[in-house]
Amino acid sequence: MKIKTKQNKITRRQQLKLFISVMGTFAILFFTLGIIIFNLFQSSTYRSIDKDIKEQVTSIRKQPQMSNQLRHTPQGPDNRNKQPEPHAPFQASILVFNNDGKLLNKSSLGNRYSVLKNIKLNKKNLNKKQTITIKKMNFRALLIKVSSKNNNPMYAGHYVLIMQNIDTQIQSTSNFKRILIITFFIFWIVALILAYVLTRISMFPIIKSWKQQSEFVNDAAHELRTPLTIIQGKLEYMLTKPNNTIIDEAESISVSLDEVNRLNSLTNNLLILARSDQATTKMNVELTTPEFFLKDPIMPFKEIINSQSKVFQTNIHHKNDVHLNVDRDKIKQVLIILLDNATKYTHENGTIKIYDHIEGSKYQIIVSDTGIGISDNDKKKIFGRFYRVDKSRNRNSGGHGLGLAIAQQIINTHHGKIFVRDNLPTGSEFVVELPIKH
Ligand code: ADP
Repeated sequence: MKIKTKQNKITRRQQLKLFISVMGTFAILFFTLGIIIFNLFQSSTYRSIDKDIKEQVTSIRKQPQMSNQLRHTPQGPDNRNKQPEPHAPFQASILVFNNDGKLLNKSSLGNRYSVLKNIKLNKKNLNKKQTITIKKMNFRALLIKVSSKNNNPMYAGHYVLIMQNIDTQIQSTSNFKRILIITFFIFWIVALILAYVLTRISMFPIIKSWKQQSEFVNDAAHELRTPLTIIQGKLEYMLTKPNNTIIDEAESISVSLDEVNRLNSLTNNLLILARSDQATTKMNVELTTPEFFLKDPIMPFKEIINSQSKVFQTNIHHKNDVHLNVDRDKIKQVLIILLDNATKYTHENGTIKIYDHIEGSKYQIIVSDTGIGISDNDKKKIFGRFYRVDKSRNRNSGGHGLGLAIAQQIINTHHGKIFVRDNLPTGSEFVVELPIKH
């Protein structure tokens, strides 16, 4: 029980670790994706602003026909930029400074002057794109030095600061950022829920087989410990009697030998199961008829069963007329397990019977006995590894609870079925079902 709680704890810790790593990975993914999308959005927004500024720079530098007109207009170049409505947020403004930083186009700025007068000429920013914020208004700006040969005397030889209002863009960028954060957060949660469900589903068979494996190792160790303790006890006892002869200690020696035999059969069974778990057992499948795998196990059991004052009956109808694709040795092994159990769990004068039957496209071999029977609850469990109905009695009869597990594994690899049912009025019937090869 303690071991199981510890295992559950480890499994839960492992699941948590996996979940946290998935959570982290998703967070990094969403964060990176968010940054990329946001940057793309921002740069595409500023790209159009920068394009406008660039066009203005080109027009200032070239001053096509406009320059001639401007020479005669008192308001100079700024007529172009005049806003239609004085209170509307202005989009583009042009400030002209002389070398000393004095604003030259004050008159053309109109009502914008009150805001824009705060901007000082900073020659360090020449030809650099910059963001200027004044009185909560944001501008993308570029400072250029216009050549003294420029046709427009307003610009010629002066510094011109081209400003583009970007309040709308900043507003939409921050809206976009908010929406992006909310959407990504929701998707991150959805992804986490999905990841949680998926990890549980994908981990389930792994956890199950891992649990089975560790239970198997625990049970195997437990089974190995009992005979080893008995042998150790007997040997230690014999060491305390150094002058005794073998005859004197015959009982201890024979008990030890029994336990060695038990250990031997246990390790063999463990090896069989471990090999078939890893699918390393070679199957020697060939087309055969039942007589080739029924004769060998039946013969010796006839003698054993009769010697124990029990009745053995065989009733095989399809010795030669059924063809099966099986590994004969493996099927023999299954029949030995079933006949051995039937013998072990049947009292004196009881009957053990082996017979066959065709059920559709399946060939059935049935081993029945009039023995102690198996309860409905145990019927489901006896094919499990190390499961024994009555542990204390079975130890004396030599079982480890591995026989039926091995039988089931063999039949499964043959794409067949093995199950147990009651033999009326008493006892049980084990049915092995194999597909017939037509
Ligand atoms: P074991 O080596 O202990 O017999 P098995 O895996 O062959 O292990 O069987 C598991 C358990 O199923 C047995 O311990 C026994 O309790 C029960 N069992 C198997 N065969 C029979 C049977 N013919 N009659 C009654 N009980 C049986």
